[in-house]
Amino acid sequence: MTQITRRLLAATSLAALGLPRQAGAQSSAFPTRPITMVIPFAAGGPTDVVGRLLAEAMSRDLGQPVVVENTTGAGGTLGAQRVATARPDGYTILLHHIGMGVIPTMYRRLAYDPVNGFEPLGLVTEVPMTVVTRKDIPANNLTELLSYMKSQGDRFNLADAGIGSSSALCGALLSNAIGVKPTVIPFRGTGPAMQEILGGRVDLLCDQTTQTTEHIRSGAVKVFATPSRTRIGTLPEIPTTAEAGLPGFEVTVWHGLYAPKGTPAPICARLTQSLQAALREPRVIERFSAIGTTPVSQDDATAEAHRRFWTADIAKWKPVIEATGSYAD
Ligand code: ASP
Repeated sequence: MTQITRRLLAATSLAALGLPRQAGAQSSAFPTRPITMVIPFAAGGPTDVVGRLLAEAMSRDLGQPVVVENTTGAGGTLGAQRVATARPDGYTILLHHIGMGVIPTMYRRLAYDPVNGFEPLGLVTEVPMTVVTRKDIPANNLTELLSYMKSQGDRFNLADAGIGSSSALCGALLSNAIGVKPTVIPFRGTGPAMQEILGGRVDLLCDQTTQTTEHIRSGAVKVFATPSRTRIGTLPEIPTTAEAGLPGFEVTVWHGLYAPKGTPAPICARLTQSLQAALREPRVIERFSAIGTTPVSQDDATAEAHRRFWTADIAKWKPVIEATGSYAD
């Protein structure tokens, strides 16, 4: 076969795939330069911790640096917008969490499409949440905490990472369940929010165990419950909210990886492959386990499983958000 015939054949098969010749040429070599992984919450917080572990492992697999960029604010929507509106070439990707399931209902006005603006690449991990407070709060179980919240009214402070974050969702569900309106203090992530809890300047925070575990173990915060169906394997002494007297209240944080809509399929496939390789790595499994979580199965780290889960999550939260009226506007 001559070189020209070979080139012609390559061009024909790319056309058959519906790809412009240049995009196809790029995807076969992808990636040839560093990739930016946008994390929509502050550095040092729980989403950031998961994202950085993943970015590091994907760099090893892709042979190019995957550089983390914390684009924070507006409950994770600014980071998501940054990726939805980026060039769909695989060089800008998003690591987000359960916010992708609630934002489409919670935000009625956005400068990007919170569903059709993305190509899901695969699920990453699920992390349970805990309800923690400053350590000197005058309550020793959830019932006492809830009555203290009621007695304090808006003098009670609740920190979160902005409307659309898991901490805000959990805080709103908790407040609604007992009919109180605490003062909400939004941060750009629960990393900085936790500093205020540790300093005793804010009363309560709902946050992932990836951040709260060490502070619970050292006694730097008080823990009251986990809003999960079952107890947490690594912190079995903590009751579920249902066990502690507040049934019908569940928030577990799932994470997924996304590319902008229109990213060529071979590039998405390469990114998914790299996500799967990262989640198989023994040192990633070990480090995830050290922060109290496990990577999803290889089957769940796929675009199809991610899309199914994400779609179901949007449907699950829609009636809850509509019933509580927790809109961002
Ligand atoms: N845990 C945060 C949330 O409330 C986000 C973060 O800072 O990781 O969604």
